Amino acid sequence: MRLVFLGAPGAGKGTQAKRLVDQLKIPQVSTGDMLRKAVSDGTSLGKEAKSYMDKGELVPDSVVIGLIKERLQEADTENGFILDGFPRNVSQAKELDSLLGDLGKPLDVALVLDVPIDDLMKRLTGRRTCKSCGQMYNVYFSPPKVEGKCDVCGGDLYQRADDNEETIKKRLDVYQSSTEPLIDYYKNKGILKIVQGTGDINAIYRKILVQLNPAV
Ligand code: AMP
Repeated sequence: MRLVFLGAPGAGKGTQAKRLVDQLKIPQVSTGDMLRKAVSDGTSLGKEAKSYMDKGELVPDSVVIGLIKERLQEADTENGFILDGFPRNVSQAKELDSLLGDLGKPLDVALVLDVPIDDLMKRLTGRRTCKSCGQMYNVYFSPPKVEGKCDVCGGDLYQRADDNEETIKKRLDVYQSSTEPLIDYYKNKGILKIVQGTGDINAIYRKILVQLNPAV
């Protein structure tokens, strides 16, 4: 299945995508993760991207489209993929359509995780991630048993550089102005599904599976 995961920063796309990866055996392709890796590796692409990411702005389309083009031609995406954080605007969505058209592999579903904007600030400021295994926590809603340590592997937890109040406000603005129009874009293509992203994480996952059936 070829799936685009849509939703505001903090809506839970990453968390839910990881579960789908385990169940569907297709990779999660996150441009945010790819860019953060380029930043920590100190590549020239990473250096260019960092200034935008620190401000909560979108990295130029040419940069992310280049990353996606390479990634979607790797063998592990043969049976499908879950795009998380891409596309972020209509021009990226059009580029994606043309790339997938060329590959003869159009999207099956665009799934929106819908969370009220007022809930997102607390989700994002409380978010912590394990450096070793990527497990995610929230210090307000789902804290680790031992502060700063991962329950699963004991690794250290970190807070993303862009999960601070000022940058979050900017990211939410960018979401509303640039990314939200994608909801209509995919609705018009007839592949949009919407899941309410509030409440219990397991219950949300079950609702996602219901929406993906029979595409799963
Ligand atoms: P994320 O992890 O998806 O929240 O992305 C973190 C940051 O990476 C964003 O605030 C942007 O600066 C950048 N980024 C990630 N994906 C994209 C994209 N598709 N287009 C432009 N910038 C992106």
